[in-house]
Amino acid sequence: MSSLYPNLLAPLDLGFTSLKNRVLMGSMHTGLEEEKGGHEKMAAYFAERARGEVGLIVTGGIAPNRAGWGAPFGAKLTSTREAKKHLPITEAVHKEGGKICLQILHTGRYAYHPFAVAPSAVKAPISPFKPWKLTSKGIENTIKDFVRCAVLAKQAGYDGVEVMGSEGYLINQFIVSKTNRRADKWGGSYENRIRLPLRIVEDIRRAVGEQFIIIYRLSMLDLVHDGSTWEEVVHLAKRIESAGATIINTGIGWHEARVPTIATMVPRGGFSWVTKKMMGEVGIPLITTNRINMPEVAEQILADGHADMVSMARPFLADPEFVKKAIQGRRDEINTCIACNQACLDHVFKRQRASCLVNPRACYETELNFIPTKNNKKVAVVGAGPAGLACATHAAERGHEVHLFDGRNEIGGQFRMAMQVPGKEEFVETIRYFKKRLDITGVQLHLGKMIEVEELLLGNYDEIVIATGVVPRIPKIEGIDHPKVLNYIEVLRDKKEVGQKVAIIGAGGIGFDMAAYLLHDHEGTPSVVPFMEEWGVDMNYQTGGGLKNADYSPPKREIYLLQRSTGKLGAKLGKTTGWIHRAILKKNRVNMIAQVKYEKIDDRGLHITIDDVPTILEVDHIIICAGQLALHPLADALNKANRTCHIIGGAKEARELDAKKAIKEASYLAAQF
Ligand code: NAP
Ligand code: SF4
Repeated sequence: MSSLYPNLLAPLDLGFTSLKNRVLMGSMHTGLEEEKGGHEKMAAYFAERARGEVGLIVTGGIAPNRAGWGAPFGAKLTSTREAKKHLPITEAVHKEGGKICLQILHTGRYAYHPFAVAPSAVKAPISPFKPWKLTSKGIENTIKDFVRCAVLAKQAGYDGVEVMGSEGYLINQFIVSKTNRRADKWGGSYENRIRLPLRIVEDIRRAVGEQFIIIYRLSMLDLVHDGSTWEEVVHLAKRIESAGATIINTGIGWHEARVPTIATMVPRGGFSWVTKKMMGEVGIPLITTNRINMPEVAEQILADGHADMVSMARPFLADPEFVKKAIQGRRDEINTCIACNQACLDHVFKRQRASCLVNPRACYETELNFIPTKNNKKVAVVGAGPAGLACATHAAERGHEVHLFDGRNEIGGQFRMAMQVPGKEEFVETIRYFKKRLDITGVQLHLGKMIEVEELLLGNYDEIVIATGVVPRIPKIEGIDHPKVLNYIEVLRDKKEVGQKVAIIGAGGIGFDMAAYLLHDHEGTPSVVPFMEEWGVDMNYQTGGGLKNADYSPPKREIYLLQRSTGKLGAKLGKTTGWIHRAILKKNRVNMIAQVKYEKIDDRGLHITIDDVPTILEVDHIIICAGQLALHPLADALNKANRTCHIIGGAKEARELDAKKAIKEASYLAAQF
């Protein structure tokens, strides 16, 4: 065992069984649950994580009945026939020496279909469907469905179940009075409102016997007004223990909460203080969660007594060998989850298969493989941004001789700029990961020199890959060469001084990032207390739900964020993170203006018209964030010389410049050489 992580890698004795370490792969819906052939793909996906030595796996949420579906035809476990489909999963995990629990998830009023049910007919702010109020008989039947689901999970070979009692789903809706307005024995007093989770756990325990893991995911901090008080949460935890749960897992925030809980701006391990408050209140192990993405973070949490075990979900999409690498002292080789949500949660909410921005193989284990080649080739990759790095390292790992060129003295490309943005500091980990991969795979790195077409032609390369990225688009506006004008690279990378009053031309992802950057103090990585203050989280837990007034410090700059098109600014930002970016700018009183016509730039500032009304924004600087243009003059020159090459990433399609797409494209190309 590595002495670096003694707490993390210590086994956990559950009495009738033992976990090999303190790492739970948390539940994460991937979309494979509903795909044709998805169970076989899930078997490969989970087996790879079990092989990577994770202590215990929890599947994505599976509904105990139709009403509990997240969306029509979502995964459910209601019959022996459905249970049989899970056998390949449990067999594959057990073959690798792993353990796996099935999560039972009833979405209640969060269901995205007209048959949604809830304790009361109260519509969720994040769903268009008003739920039907469950009758008393309906509640009894729902309990039976949970029990049936657990029994079927046992038949399917699972080591246990996780009862999803948090994130604002059905059970949580029963517990909290704002969503439970019933006057019968399932509503009213707290005792009545917690009857449902207690009955579910008790009845499951009775049905499955003692030697079966029951994890209860307890909402320890609702982050909605009139949520549970801390006293209520502790009371429920004790009762859940008595009802027969083996482990209590932590849930933070309902889905409708307006506090970021897992996005990249949340400090690492930022919510483990909540689980710590619960330590000592119950005798069964407690799991903590949210934004734990490296072994040292997890180790510190355990060493500080914040929990008995840690849960990580997205980090296992990013790297199936996370635990194995920690055990072997290969921390530097971990492909770190950067908490971007771009390929995982954003996909799930769009009903696409989840994957991972930094690891496009995640959930594609049977489709994308880097098989060692016998046909060794000499490969040139030009551009050491995300696309070039992914292509070069995967090609080299397969056995090709790879030369990677970049005109700059460092690798990383656009990621180097992204990591300057507050809340995006995690991108530095991706650069660290690739640096290590370049070493391990033996890529020959040529930095600080622009490669010329002649060199490429004379180099006897079998394959040439152009990953030269993009250049900022400079719009045609009178006065665009004025000294007040900067582009985003000059600000983020070259650290040009920026004044107090700023206009940003372009309100895409980079325009939003630029505004956030200009509002920030650039004083190190985010820390827990200021984050909680900023978002109004009451660490003293004086109110139900744990919310208080946010701390509004005066904005650092006066900023105008502009776009020509109509509609909401930031409409194309990530589904699960766009609201956070908009909220940050709103809090800082950024003027977000659509339908702007740019007239000219002069000493006075930026002249615009809005609705035919001319206005002058008397700003110190105008920063151009107006998208990008592809940069591939080498490809054009190669084509002229009748030499074929591959163009990937932003160099291929600047309009949709996107690290997720770039890394995926690069990885698939490298798998084919
Ligand atoms: P973008 O998202 O395409 O936005 C470009 C912006 O520039 C738009 O607001 C556009 O608005 C404006 N624009 C385009 N042509 C213009 C012109 N000729 N004159 C003036 N304005 C013009 O590009 P980006 O911001 O550079 O982002 C690049 C990619 O990275 C995107 O795919 C983005 O999603 C991704 N990204 C995402 C995030 C995030 O989700 N947080 C952060 C960074 C980057 P109008 O045409 O309406 O003026
Ligand atoms: Fe993490 Fe982003 Fe990958 Fe999701 S897509 S697992 S958030 S790195």
